[in-house]
Amino acid sequence: MKHNEPIFTLGARQKQQIEKSIRELLDPGCIIDDLLKNIEDFLHEQAELDKRIIYPELEITILESLITQLNPGQERVNCADSQLLEVFEILSLAPVSPKSESNSRLYQLFYQLSPELPSPHEAFDKLQLLIILSKIRDSHNCKYFFSELTKWAKYKHKSLFYPYHILFARFEIWDRDDHLHSILIWLRMIALISREQDIGSLYYIIIQWLVSGRAYLDTERRKNTLLGIYKLFEEQGNLVSLSTGLQLFNLADSLMKPDAKMAYFSSLTRLPEAKFSSFQLQKLYFFAGNYSSGIKSNFGDAIHYFKSSNYYLYKCWETHRTITNFLRDSLSEYQFHHSIRYWNERIHEYNNQISIQNNAYLENLQIEYDKIQELYKEVEELSLTDALTGLRNRRYLELNVHQMVLLAARHSVPLSFIMIDIDHFKRVNDSYGHEFGDFVLKELSGILSRDFRKSDILIRYGGEEFLYVLFDSSQGKTARIMEDLRNQVQNHIFSFSGNSIQISISIGIRTCLAKPYNKPAIHRLIFDADTALYKAKNLGRNRICIFETKDDNHNLEIELDR
Ligand code: GH3
Ligand code: MG
Ligand code: MG
Repeated sequence: MKHNEPIFTLGARQKQQIEKSIRELLDPGCIIDDLLKNIEDFLHEQAELDKRIIYPELEITILESLITQLNPGQERVNCADSQLLEVFEILSLAPVSPKSESNSRLYQLFYQLSPELPSPHEAFDKLQLLIILSKIRDSHNCKYFFSELTKWAKYKHKSLFYPYHILFARFEIWDRDDHLHSILIWLRMIALISREQDIGSLYYIIIQWLVSGRAYLDTERRKNTLLGIYKLFEEQGNLVSLSTGLQLFNLADSLMKPDAKMAYFSSLTRLPEAKFSSFQLQKLYFFAGNYSSGIKSNFGDAIHYFKSSNYYLYKCWETHRTITNFLRDSLSEYQFHHSIRYWNERIHEYNNQISIQNNAYLENLQIEYDKIQELYKEVEELSLTDALTGLRNRRYLELNVHQMVLLAARHSVPLSFIMIDIDHFKRVNDSYGHEFGDFVLKELSGILSRDFRKSDILIRYGGEEFLYVLFDSSQGKTARIMEDLRNQVQNHIFSFSGNSIQISISIGIRTCLAKPYNKPAIHRLIFDADTALYKAKNLGRNRICIFETKDDNHNLEIELDR
């Protein structure tokens, strides 16, 4: 059993009683007050043992029973335009700016839905204030405005009655801990609104209940109830599907896996931005950023979402300012003083949230940055390495040889450029296949790099051509080393998938003595080594040939430092 699942379950008889009461309550002919009195007695009786455990259980059972009875076939609901739902929608974004269109629309709705309300402007302003004060949990000021509004919060003033009682049912929980009274307020609203055939508002109130009572705890049952409602309204894009979607998205990770959350993110963010508060949007996009980076390793998407999340973070601050101004303008000095304490607490929590989110954001960036660094190194490595033989390639030569020449010039030491080419390699391919040829190239690369100093350069120059650049190696020494290498290759047996062959190589050597004032042109030295190689080929192959020059300076060009 999960720790937050109820540790108490109702018996069959109690469940039947609840179902019966709900059925009666949804019957338009019932006398609501009498019925609620019975329900109150029943609930009171059940909760005698431990109301903290039993009420949440009773509450979720009532909600489940309500939903099953309202729509036993789980058919999709198509709710007609409801003015009340529109009121809920606008109020959900309180405080509404006095200059906005929503504001004038809300006044209009107030006049239509509550025609006898003596002072709709005043009532509306106080209601908005109450919404904010409830959000920041300023119970002292809440109490004052509840009592101010109570005389108008009559059933006949619908636009005030329902929002007021939603707030009040919640208040009974968070301030007074009167669970029983809260349940009765919800039930009264549901009985009344179900008579009006306003399905959208009916479900909206149910969701508000579902997320604000003790049934608010994250449990499988709550999730399933939300999912049930979501299916009925899916894709309608109204306040009901939006608030249900948001609630599902906000469930604990243990109940809602990230992939599923991402699906809610996608369908929610298809709705117009104006339907959400900045806080909601910030949360949605921040999640998507973390999801893309952490789970999908998609850095591009992550950055895109994080950007949006930061934008909404900024919008959140604007909302904060609006709320502060609204409170200052609407409350007496004393009340404002009082409320600001609670408001500061909320801001403090919010600040913590921001630093948590920013840290997570930075961590994500850091992880991505590290990944990019790794990839960069890999790419760098790959672009300097020949895939077949694992030797360095010409790009590596270009990047490193200048340094070597400068060093050799500074210390006046000889440099040797050696070009090596396999003799009649085409025949190897022709006789034994390309794969065998590849094998020979790899094996030969092993031989070439066997006694090779890391400070020198060895690259695969072309198809079956290799180039050494040996630092501080005189012509004579180089010739000896190369002669030795040529012998090794000649005697080596290359065996691969049943075939064994021997090959030979031809070698051209160009040694030069670099001087500080006289730095050789690299391309020229390579060309000379190649010329010597060509000569070796012409003289019958399988030999080394040295590029002879009488006056070294004659063959050198002055090259500026790069
Ligand atoms: P020579 O003694 O004059 O150098 O004769 P050769 O046959 O070695 O020279 P040629 O330039 O005519 O042919 C080189 C051959 O090397 C042709 C080409 O198919 C082969 N070759 C080049 N790169 C590769 C490779 O990566 N794998 C394989 N298997 N063969 C390659
Ligand atoms: Mg060749
Ligand atoms: Mg060749």
